[in-house]
Amino acid sequence: MKVLVPVKRVIDYNVKVRVKSDGSGVETSNVKMSMNPFDEIAVEEAVRLRESGVAEEVIIVSLGVQQCQETIRTALAMGGDRGILVQSDGELQPLAVAKLLKELVEREGPELVILGKQAIDDDANQTGQMLAALLGWPQGTFASRLELAEGEARVTREVDGGLETVALRLPAVVTTDLRLNEPRYAKLPNIMKAKKKQLDVVSPEDLGVDVEPRLKTLKVSEPPKRSGGVRVGSVEELVEKLRNEAKVI
Ligand code: AMP
Repeated sequence: MKVLVPVKRVIDYNVKVRVKSDGSGVETSNVKMSMNPFDEIAVEEAVRLRESGVAEEVIIVSLGVQQCQETIRTALAMGGDRGILVQSDGELQPLAVAKLLKELVEREGPELVILGKQAIDDDANQTGQMLAALLGWPQGTFASRLELAEGEARVTREVDGGLETVALRLPAVVTTDLRLNEPRYAKLPNIMKAKKKQLDVVSPEDLGVDVEPRLKTLKVSEPPKRSGGVRVGSVEELVEKLRNEAKVI
């Protein structure tokens, strides 16, 4: 069984993101970029499936600029078998990503696609769901546990008040939540080996997909600055402020 894992190159989660002065987006030049953290979890899960003999091949895919190759190499160093870059310099919105992934799924024939539940840059939380819909496949989103047996994927999801387990008939789409696993660090020898692994580059045109954005960002702005706190002298004063200033009681 092949497993396809899409990994997105995003601003590193440790970086304090700055909004561009013209409000058109966020500053990405000279900013550290890394693999979306939920995608690291997806790679780890797929590699564990291969190591346990359930999967035969883990294919890593990234869609975006040429530098996404670095993200693919990181995933290959974690244990992915080969990579595909769908290279595009323009903005790729979740619908376009889902359509491109659908074409790759039809070419490669994986039985499982494991994505992150969301990308930490756009927080869209759409791609996996759209891909499942386009393929007509079942989806198990926000997985905190994944088991495969007898043509089925069992996905445990953290829902309000407990755990829900769903059974999906393969082929299926799964998206990862934070507690699914702890991704490994790539070791130096594996980083070296990853440089030699196969990495194919295709374009959206090769896949016959129109990636024209369907929605326009009107404005990006910083959240309002927090005003400093005050120390109150008594419970009565606190209650008075909560009632008349904050108007929360
Ligand atoms: P989103 O719907 O944008 O929040 O992204 C959800 C997941 O879809 C991510 O965690 C990735 O697994 C995948 N994804 C989205 N955009 C890309 C991209 N440009 N390249 C690779 N994977 C992507």
